[in-house]
Amino acid sequence: MLNSSMRVDLHTHSTASDGELPPADLVRLAIERGLSVIALTDHDSCDGIDVAIEAARGTTLQVIPGVELSCDVSQSEVHMLGYFVNWHDAHFRSMLDKFREVRFGRAEKMAKKLAALGVPISFERVKEIAGDGSIGRPHVAQALLEAGHVATVSEAFDKYIGRNGPAYVERFRLTPEDAVALILQAGGVPVLAHPREVTSWVEPLVKVGLIGLEVHYGLYDDPTKAELARMARQYGLVATGGSDFHGLNKMGHMSGLGETHVPPEVVAKLKEKAASIKAN
Ligand code: AMP
Ligand code: ZN
Ligand code: FE
Ligand code: FE
Repeated sequence: MLNSSMRVDLHTHSTASDGELPPADLVRLAIERGLSVIALTDHDSCDGIDVAIEAARGTTLQVIPGVELSCDVSQSEVHMLGYFVNWHDAHFRSMLDKFREVRFGRAEKMAKKLAALGVPISFERVKEIAGDGSIGRPHVAQALLEAGHVATVSEAFDKYIGRNGPAYVERFRLTPEDAVALILQAGGVPVLAHPREVTSWVEPLVKVGLIGLEVHYGLYDDPTKAELARMARQYGLVATGGSDFHGLNKMGHMSGLGETHVPPEVVAKLKEKAASIKAN
């Protein structure tokens, strides 16, 4: 079952958050590209998981239920991936609902800030762009682009809605420690996402149960991956990885689906960890 040609992508987004492809289309693309395993890790949402698993049924693709929780910390952001979460767990779902509710109000606040900055966007349009998905800054960026205030999505982030930009608004106040706890409670494996800028969080989070580190991240160069791999070994963390695929067009700054090399044995390791969490 496990062989070295197995291709794996453990970080992907769908229209359940700010990805471009509906979950079933993401699954079809993964199959087309010959992937064996993907994890669907939408921001504060597990709404795409049932559809993705259903779309993969009877194919060679395995879909791992996942999530990506975001935490605002001083001057930066910590993102926490959760693998094999019990996505139907009532408490977990109610927390995700709460996070998405805050995201909704946050987008409205960003729209107000942008208007005050002289670059108005319609909140109605932001809601339309987000559709049923967990509303996020990429949707705001798209509205800024459509209104002609910026030429690219990255310009929207650089000028207005980046972490330290004038129209930035924080999300639900979730600490990284709480994110780890929430994922563990839901039977999931907590993994620190794209950790390059937040490696100082590794040690404190290991103390509260962090299990993995996203070493093989699409946008990282080899020296960065080597340094993160060293950290993962030092702390006994599972070295995961993925592309952070958001779609074929608008999120062009992210990597392509399945284009990041992830050692396939990581999947079995995560599964083992999830089983021991669930057994406790
Ligand atoms: P949010 O969860 O609403 O704060 O939005 C975070 C998402 O915005 C990330 O997952 C990326 O998809 C996107 N993003 C963050 N920074 C940038 C950037 N500089 N350029 C383009 N997209 C970005
Ligand atoms: Zn995203
Ligand atoms: Fe992220
Ligand atoms: Fe992501």
